[in-house]
Amino acid sequence: MPRYSAWRVFWNGLSGHKKWERAWRDPEPAGKYDVVIIGGGLHGLATAYYLAQNHGIANIAVLEKGWLGSGNAGRNTTIVRSNYMMPGNREFYEYSLKLWENLSHDLNYNVMFSQRAHVTLLHSLAARDAAARRYNLMRLTGSDAELWDLEALRREIPHLNYGPGARFPIIGAAVQRRAGNARHDAVAWGYARAADSRGVDIIQNCEVTGIARDGHRISGLETSRGLIRGKKIGFAVAGNTSRLWQMAELGTLPIETHKLQAFISEPLKPLLDQVVVFGVGGSHFYISQTDKGGMVFGGDLDWYKSYAQRGNLPMIYDAAEAATSVLPCLSRVRLLRHWSGSVDMSMDGSFFLCKTPLDNLYLNAGWNYGGFKATPASGWYFADLIANDRPDPIIANHDLQRFERGVQIDERGAGSDPKLHG
Ligand SMILES: Cc1cc2nc3c(=O)[nH]c(=O)nc-3n(C[C@H](O)[C@H](O)[C@H](O)COP(=O)(O)OP(=O)(O)OC[C@H]3O[C@@H](n4cnc5c(N)ncnc54)[C@H](O)[C@@H]3O)c2cc1C
Repeated sequence: MPRYSAWRVFWNGLSGHKKWERAWRDPEPAGKYDVVIIGGGLHGLATAYYLAQNHGIANIAVLEKGWLGSGNAGRNTTIVRSNYMMPGNREFYEYSLKLWENLSHDLNYNVMFSQRAHVTLLHSLAARDAAARRYNLMRLTGSDAELWDLEALRREIPHLNYGPGARFPIIGAAVQRRAGNARHDAVAWGYARAADSRGVDIIQNCEVTGIARDGHRISGLETSRGLIRGKKIGFAVAGNTSRLWQMAELGTLPIETHKLQAFISEPLKPLLDQVVVFGVGGSHFYISQTDKGGMVFGGDLDWYKSYAQRGNLPMIYDAAEAATSVLPCLSRVRLLRHWSGSVDMSMDGSFFLCKTPLDNLYLNAGWNYGGFKATPASGWYFADLIANDRPDPIIANHDLQRFERGVQIDERGAGSDPKLHG
């Protein structure tokens, strides 16, 4: 696969950009692979790439029931940050952020990672204390973190609701400057192209419809494109994890599938340079501006379990209310589109990267609202787990048995209710 470069953009421009080669092949499935990853979203594609790149395994298939990125990969609000505190999460997300910082070069694909800062608004002294604890811990473990007072915040983001009539007066902000956004489709395409060029077969329109077992092993996958076998199988199907788990006759998982919506407004002139997050009590809201000018924002889950990829009206009302409360200047802006994805909410709000009761099956799931930022590290550590058949110490507690051991990785301190872990 030829490398992308400024010279090639210029050269292809001479022929009206009509001679670019396909970014990845469209192969027919071979009958048998060393590793089969189910799910052509961000985590599946990243895993295939790192398996080939870091571990020299090339006989890999990624099976995707729709088109690449048709799941949560292409539906999220693209926030990347590493302001986590719990052991395991802290190191994992910081490593992910470090991989993000070099991802475009690594993949030879511009994923448009923009470190525009992640600004969490603070509305009470208790919130400021909690943020100080978290953000100091981040600094102690090698990340960047700042606390802004009201004056600094006003200087950086003048349009927030500082008015005397604000329902929740703002007193400052907790800030991670290295955090930001990336272009979600480009991340999926970049990983796909890089994996394909290392020999990975990316097979779209290939739904896994049945799983055959031979004792404690998966012996074959029934798919809409025929039987496919793999020596090792990885699940990376986000909100569909429980469905595949049941196909493998493994019972139930500590995961619930919920809907999360996102929204985009009509394009505006530059208004907001950062990602802004608001959360008071049960309310949760985050907003940023895309390169095309649209205000992208989201809020909480839709509050009931479902596999649908369509959201309900009360949450639209809720998100619009939060938007106008945080940035009153948006009150007359029109909403262009909204959509939803099925997120795999775990009981403590943290992910699973682990072995399973079956010898050749590995699980990548439980990403809750937050799997976009996790993509590079998720692929990195999942590939390592599959290749070496043991978890790296950083993900050692992110297994299915952690609840039996009494280990909760509960960043929010919200307790064992998946709906509360946003
Ligand atoms: C509205 C919304 C906003 C979000 N915002 C953020 C954010 O700002 N920051 C952040 O970090 N995270 C965010 N997330 C979460 C993030 O998008 C997900 O955690 C992440 O995309 C999960 O990646 P994935 O590869 O596991 O899943 P997906 O991208 O969903 O990929 C799973 C793939 O598996 C395929 N599949 C399912 N079943 C089968 C089958 N039987 N056979 C074959 N293929 C199958 C699906 O078609 C899908 O393409 C958001 C999510 C949503 C829905």
